[in-house]
Amino acid sequence: MQSLLNAATKFLGRCGIIQNRVNIRQIACLSALSETHQMLQKTCRDFADAELVPKAAKHDREHLYPESQILEMGKLGLMAVPIPEELGGTGLDYLAYSIAMEEISRGCASSGVIMSVNNSLYLGPILAYGTKEQKDKWLTPYTGGDKIGCFALSEPGNGSDAGAASTTAIEKDDRYIINGTKMWITNGYQAGAAIVFATTDKSLKHKGISAFIVPKGIKGFSVGKGEDKLGIRASSTNQLIFEDCEIPKENILGKPGNGFKIAMQTLDAGRIGIAGQALGIAQASLELAIDYAQNRNSFGNPISKLQIIQQKIADMALRIESARLLTWRASFLKDNGKSYTKEAAMAKLAASEAATFCAHQCIQILGGMGYVTDMAAERYYRDARITEIYEGTSEIQRLVIAAQVLKELAA
Ligand SMILES: Cc1cc2nc3c(=O)[nH]c(=O)nc-3n(C[C@H](O)[C@H](O)[C@H](O)COP(=O)(O)OP(=O)(O)OC[C@H]3O[C@@H](n4cnc5c(N)ncnc54)[C@H](O)[C@@H]3O)c2cc1C
Repeated sequence: MQSLLNAATKFLGRCGIIQNRVNIRQIACLSALSETHQMLQKTCRDFADAELVPKAAKHDREHLYPESQILEMGKLGLMAVPIPEELGGTGLDYLAYSIAMEEISRGCASSGVIMSVNNSLYLGPILAYGTKEQKDKWLTPYTGGDKIGCFALSEPGNGSDAGAASTTAIEKDDRYIINGTKMWITNGYQAGAAIVFATTDKSLKHKGISAFIVPKGIKGFSVGKGEDKLGIRASSTNQLIFEDCEIPKENILGKPGNGFKIAMQTLDAGRIGIAGQALGIAQASLELAIDYAQNRNSFGNPISKLQIIQQKIADMALRIESARLLTWRASFLKDNGKSYTKEAAMAKLAASEAATFCAHQCIQILGGMGYVTDMAAERYYRDARITEIYEGTSEIQRLVIAAQVLKELAA
């Protein structure tokens, strides 16, 4: 706890924010969060309101990567929240990371996913499985926002069935030669390096998959088609193409054949980040809906006085708070070294369904104004949808939860 406090104090120092500790203590009485986590929450919320909200619509409309905002987030320590300070990270826990993810995504869901991929999907597996040399070369330089990484598991022929990877990595002398195409890779266009999953021994099926750190610029590695997406349009989603791409053996992450395990463990943690992203979209939808309902008159009264509108607001708040508690519980278990596969899947499932529900209700409460780009409701609706698809669809989360529950009951 002391080290968390120290890290948070340094984080807040970096933000240059003087906190009103009396007010924070007063809020602390009302919430399950520690004072430290509340300070972090407020700092991220203020940053999002000042720096992300004003630009989010333009970035979305024009498919613009929010470069200066990501750099600022890097300076605040948000691009490497759970990475130890001695490796260049912020040294906070996963609860802090999920809170930061929610607040950043409440301002801009695209910035949220860029942050989440760098924190959980790129830095996460290098922290867990990298050698000291790999951490020095591929982790520490990617903590400040000026360089970001990506995670390349999905392919044109397989997404949910990740064990069916057809990209190959053939061992030759002191190198591996990678061939294949990865698809849907977030941060793929900007990333300086990718964690790439490829089959080193096809006969072993998913146990023959290995993970590699592959730098951009290396011969045989190119960035392919960029996707024109429904939502999170300020983040890049590209194909990555490997054609006789030779990488040195020292770039293998973990042991040969451990790639599938690394991918699944990485996605467990990543799902907490996506739950945070979904909560941010849901919360933004609720706040906009309430603000509008209190100011829009119909039949002589604000529509917030109508019970049918109040019911929608109650249902939104209920789903958000339930999903938030699941997200914090999954973070807490991870922070305490406990198993959290089921809880992370529950958090991601509940939060992503809350996001799509709340964005839908937000548009309904805004009426016609919800349907046009003058208001953010339509962007929330588009951004929410992906949270039910990536890092495991809602169907896959249900399979994960059921498998864990059945195992627990059988034990
Ligand atoms: C914007 C975006 C960003 C992404 N970013 C990344 C990234 O950074 N890195 C990366 O590796 N991937 C990324 N992905 C890929 C994403 O993880 C996959 O799209 C997702 O896992 C689903 O795979 P699929 O699209 O191949 O769908 P499929 O696996 O083909 O599934 C199609 C449908 O069938 C259902 N289904 C499949 N199998 C089962 C089953 N066993 N039981 C029940 N239902 C099932 C699915 O739930 C879904 O409804 C991204 C995708 C998008 C759209």
